[in-house]
Amino acid sequence: MALKVCKFGGTSMADGNVIRRVKDIIYGDDARRYVVVSAPGKRYSGDVKVTDMLYACQSETEKTGGCKDSFAKVRARFESIVKELNTDFDIKSVLDETENLIVENNSPDFTASRGEYLCARVCAAAFDAEFIDAADVIFFKENGAFDGEKSYAAVAAALSGVRRAVIPGFYGTGADGKVKTFSRGGSDVSGSIVARAVNASLYENWTDVSGFLACDPRIVDSPKRIKNISYKELRELSYMGASVLHADSIFPVRKANIPIQIKNTFAPADEGTTILPISRYMPSGNIVTGIAGKKDFTVIFIEKSMMNSEIGFVCKVLGVLARENISVEHIPSGIDTMSLVIESSQLKLGELNRIIEGIQAEVDPDVIRVIEDIALIATVGHGMSSSVGTSARLFNALAAANVNIRMIDQGSSEINIIVGVKNDDYEKTIKAIYSEFFK
Ligand code: ASP
Repeated sequence: MALKVCKFGGTSMADGNVIRRVKDIIYGDDARRYVVVSAPGKRYSGDVKVTDMLYACQSETEKTGGCKDSFAKVRARFESIVKELNTDFDIKSVLDETENLIVENNSPDFTASRGEYLCARVCAAAFDAEFIDAADVIFFKENGAFDGEKSYAAVAAALSGVRRAVIPGFYGTGADGKVKTFSRGGSDVSGSIVARAVNASLYENWTDVSGFLACDPRIVDSPKRIKNISYKELRELSYMGASVLHADSIFPVRKANIPIQIKNTFAPADEGTTILPISRYMPSGNIVTGIAGKKDFTVIFIEKSMMNSEIGFVCKVLGVLARENISVEHIPSGIDTMSLVIESSQLKLGELNRIIEGIQAEVDPDVIRVIEDIALIATVGHGMSSSVGTSARLFNALAAANVNIRMIDQGSSEINIIVGVKNDDYEKTIKAIYSEFFK
């Protein structure tokens, strides 16, 4: 029988009226039995997310030993949600207890997790569902990584025989027994974990948009919606900055071949975007599935004759970066050249000079040059590996748009061509690629 795990994001939890819509969505399909929720998000632009209010509670606690002032805002928010929902849930005592625990624990992760906790408590009451605390079923290992084995078994056991449940997203329990959160936006990951644990037929991720667009709508006017995308393509696009779903949320479901569907709480009939394993992937017929990018990279270009025959050359260069604790994004290379593409925000004052000196000392290059303010744009699609001339089309389109390409990297996955251009050419590049492949 179909079994769906649904995760509702912050805007779907923003107020009591929206939560009522969520209830209708859940009750509209018998398969939607397990619900993972985020903390209430923004109701309007300029509003404050509950998680951000909670981080303010933590600062206040650290400074003053209490969080009365900041917690008053969290309190008001949940009280109004419960009022709008018109339930008799005793939010006051749960809020009192939470405020005390925030002060007592004085831990950023515990404090931040309370938005999801409170929201799930309220929703469980409103949806007539069981509340399952994520702290009891989602676990992290000693090194901070998510503990799949232990968590999947615990989630499955807790939900076995449960008709309908609400589980807070974003947190679990660390190896030290204390509450630990995923990174921001981590409720997407929690949803995926629950879907995997119960072997769901579908993981529905409910947001405030009807799926993914082929590129950033702030750059291209009304870009096409992506109907189907593979996990791999999504991974490439979200790594390059396309945001809707947390980049780590595909891993748990991917292993179990469970599709994810991005749905819109405010337009539930819209089909949205379905993310599928490659075995179930139905190509859209378009060569390119999506385009995404990021600004502000630094490229260190190294040239040395006979580089290719010098054993351990790359290793020595990367060793310099590892010692500075810098991660490298891409390493396009030629016979006598290699480039290191690094996110500029990692290079604090003095670090770049130390790296250059380190590389000079290690490998004595003929040329070493730094190029700053580079944007990377990834053009992604399974269709690219099987169709001849895709890169020629891409480069011609950029030449016609007068974009100077500073770097090219065709990912070894063959579903990805990355170009590096000057930051100032970022928008122009995306527009040109979009009109070449989508119009
Ligand atoms: N509430 C958390 C955040 O704002 C987690 C989430 O929304 O998924 O990052």
